[in-house]
Amino acid sequence: GAPRPTGFLEGLNEAQREAVENMDGPLLVLAGAGTGKTRVLTTRLANILSSGRARPFQMLVVTFTNKAAREMQERVTNLVGPMAEGLWLGTFHALATKILRRHAELVGLQSNFTILDTDDQIRLLKQVMEAEHIDEKRWPARTLIHVIQRWKDKGLPPEKVGAGEAGDIANGRAVAIYRQYQERLTTLNAADFGDLLMHNLTLFTNHPDVLQKYQEMFRYILVDEYQDTNVSQYLWLRLLAQKNKNICCVGDDDQSIYGWRGAEVGNILKFEKDFPGAQVVRLEKNYRSTSHILGAASKLIQNNEGRLGKTLWTDQEGGELVTVHGVWDGEEEARIVGDEIEAAQKKKVSLNEMAILVRAGFQTREFEERLITLGLPYKVIGGARFYEREEIRDALAYLRVIRQPADDLALERIINKPTRGVGKTTLQAMHQVARLENCPLSLAALRLLETDELKPAGKRALGRIMEDFRRWREMAGVVSHIELAETVLDESGYTDFWKNSKKPEAPGKLENLKELLVAMEEFENLDEFMEHVSLVMDVDAQAEAGAEMISIMTLHAAKGLEFDLVFLPGWEEGLFPHQRSMDESGMAGLEEERRLAYVGMTRAKKKLHILFSANRRIHGQWQSAIPSRFVDELSPEHLEERTDRGLYAGSGGGRAEERSQYGFSGFDNGYDSGSYGNAGYGAQRRQTQGGPGWQRMQTRKKPVTLEGRATRKPAPVNPFKVGDRCFHQKFGMGDVVSIDGDHLTIQFDKAGTKKVVAAFVEKP
Ligand code: ATP
Ligand code: MG
Repeated sequence: GAPRPTGFLEGLNEAQREAVENMDGPLLVLAGAGTGKTRVLTTRLANILSSGRARPFQMLVVTFTNKAAREMQERVTNLVGPMAEGLWLGTFHALATKILRRHAELVGLQSNFTILDTDDQIRLLKQVMEAEHIDEKRWPARTLIHVIQRWKDKGLPPEKVGAGEAGDIANGRAVAIYRQYQERLTTLNAADFGDLLMHNLTLFTNHPDVLQKYQEMFRYILVDEYQDTNVSQYLWLRLLAQKNKNICCVGDDDQSIYGWRGAEVGNILKFEKDFPGAQVVRLEKNYRSTSHILGAASKLIQNNEGRLGKTLWTDQEGGELVTVHGVWDGEEEARIVGDEIEAAQKKKVSLNEMAILVRAGFQTREFEERLITLGLPYKVIGGARFYEREEIRDALAYLRVIRQPADDLALERIINKPTRGVGKTTLQAMHQVARLENCPLSLAALRLLETDELKPAGKRALGRIMEDFRRWREMAGVVSHIELAETVLDESGYTDFWKNSKKPEAPGKLENLKELLVAMEEFENLDEFMEHVSLVMDVDAQAEAGAEMISIMTLHAAKGLEFDLVFLPGWEEGLFPHQRSMDESGMAGLEEERRLAYVGMTRAKKKLHILFSANRRIHGQWQSAIPSRFVDELSPEHLEERTDRGLYAGSGGGRAEERSQYGFSGFDNGYDSGSYGNAGYGAQRRQTQGGPGWQRMQTRKKPVTLEGRATRKPAPVNPFKVGDRCFHQKFGMGDVVSIDGDHLTIQFDKAGTKKVVAAFVEKP
C-alpha cells in the first residue's frame, strides 16, 4: 500500500514519543499544563490510523468542547489526510447523543427525542412538585434540579438512589419526585442533558448485546481533559473500554475546574485500579511558557493540598517577568491593558495572540469599551459582547422607550418582560391601531386605553405600564440618568425578574445589570450614554470576519488554549477567588478557584500581566478592594511589580490625596466582600458625595413627552356620524351614539354601550 506517513513523530520528546508509539493497552498521561498532552493525543490518533490498527469509525475520541473537537479533527486531517474522515470525535454529550438516538427505543424513547434546556427542565419539575404538593417556597425547584443533576452525574437513575439519600429535601420526597420527573420526560419523548450519559449507561447495562457491539467497534478510545470527567462519563468510558482496553486518557489534576458541575479528580486515581497494568506517562517539559510564567504558576498551585504532584520545567529560560499591576480603578485597569496591547502590536505581536481572561462575565465591559475607543478589534468567546447581552438589551430598551416613545421595537421587547399581563391579544390590538392610524405603538396604547376594546385585566396591565413610563419620563427630567435607570429596573420588576429566576446564568445577569450602571457613570446624561451605546453597537457591526482580533473570555472558556500575551484582570478578594464559590464550597471552592488561576496563568506563552484594582465602582458606590490572596502566592523572583505603593500605604503620594478627596474608606477597614457581588438593588448606594458622579446628579434634563410626537401625526379620518349603523369585530352590530375624534361611543345590540376605536369599526 501507500507508504505510511510517520513524519509527525519527529520533534516529540522521549516521553511523548513513548505515549504516541505504544498504541496498545491502557495509558494515562498525567502531566502539567503546556506539556503537549493534547498534541500527544492527536499524534497518537494519527499514528493509530496510519498504522492500520483501526479505521476512523473504530475510534472514539472525546474532547471537552465542540471547538476543541473541530481543532483536533483539523490537525489529524493535516497529519494523515482523508484517512481521518468518519471518526467518532466530539464531546461526551455529542457522542452519547449519537449512540442514544440509534437505540432510543430500548430506554423508552423514540429516536427523535428532544433535548430539554434548563428552562424546560425547571418548568417540568415544577409541575411534578406541584402535583406532589411540595411547597416551592420552602424547596425551590432549582435546589431540587441540582440534586437530580448530581445523581445523574453519578449515573444514578431513581431506582438506584437510596430512599434516604436526599435527607429531608422536598419533605423526604426527592427520590419520588425524581422518579416522576423521569417518567414525565419519557412521556414527552424528551431527555435532559444529564440523561444523555445516564441513558447510555442504562442501555449498556440492560442490553449487553448492544454494549458488546460498541465495545468491539471502538478499538481505540482517546480522552482529552480527563480531569474534568464526572462519574457517569467515567463509567461510560470504562464500559466501552473493557473489552479492548485500548484507552488513553490525558489530563492534569491541577486543571480540574468543573467540580461545581460534578467532575471528580478521583477518576484519575481510579484509572490505574480499573485498568491494571496501565502505563502511566508523565510529561515534564513544558513547551508553552517561558520560565518566569511557569515558575510563578507552579508556585501558586503549590498552595493547594492533595495534589498528585508534578515536576515541570522549560528550557525557555529568561523571557519577561510576570507583571503585576496594582491600579486605582477599573478604568485604569482597562487603560493599562489597552496600552500594553498597543505596545505589543508595535512589536508585531498579532492580535490573535492576545487574550484577556476574566473571572466573571460582567468584567468584559470595561475592556470592550477601551478596545473600541482604541479601535482594536476583539471577540468575546463563549458569550455575547456586553451590549449585546439579553439583560443589557432589555435594560436599554426601557431607557429607549423613555427617551423616545416612538421606539416601537424597544417597547415591544419589554412591554411584557417581565410578564405583566400585557399579552398577545393586547399587543395585537395595539399593532392594529398603530397600523390603521399610522402612529407609534405607545400612542396606540394610549388610544386603546380610552376605549373598551381590551379585556379589563389586559387594559389594567397596559394602563399600569403606560403610566409607569409616563412617570419615568417625568423623572428623567429631574434625577440623574443613573438614578433613573436604577429606578426603572426596580419599579418595572426587571431586577426582581432575574433575582427570582432559577436559571444558572441569573446571578451573572444581575452582575451585568450593575455593571451597566457603572458604565453610565462615565457619561453626563442619558442622551450621551445612548449615543455612546449606538456607536459601540455600530463598531460591532463593522468587525470584519477573518480579521485579526483580541480574544476576551472567561477563565473557564480558556481551557486548553494558548496565547503569546495574556491579561488576567480583577485579581481581588471576592472577585477572584470568587466569593460565591468560597461561600458554597469552602476550602474546596477556594482550591478550585486557585486551579482556575493556574489554568489562566498557564495560557500565556511569552508575557503575562496580572492586574488588581484598589477601587471598584459597584453601582455608583465606590468600594475598596484588597488584592487577591493569589497575588501573594506568586513568588517574587518571577514578578515585576508596578503597584503604586501609595495606593495602599494610605499616606504620601498623589493617590492617597486623591483618595481622601473622594472620601473613600480605607483599605484596612472598609472591605465587605459579601456585598461585592450581592449588593441589593433597593438599597441606597450613593454614599460618597465626592465621587466623580455627584455632579451628574444635578443634571437637569428636559422631559420627553408623548404629546410632542402625537401632534405631528395627521388626524385620522373618521367616516362615521351619529346614528350610523355599524359592525365591530368583538362587540357585533350597534349604533353610533357619539363621536370624539377617532373614538366612537356605540350602543351595541348585545354588548351594551362601549367606547371603541373608529378603526376597528366597519360599516356593514
Ligand atoms: P493544557 O494542559 O493547557 O491543555 P497540553 O498539555 O495539552 O496543555 P499542548 O496544547 O498539547 O499542551 O501543547 C502546548 C504547546 O506546546 C503547543 O503549542 C504544542 O504545539 C507545543 N508542543 C508540545 N510538544 C512539543 C514538542 N515536542 N516540540 C515542540 N512543541 C511542542
Ligand atoms: Mg490540552
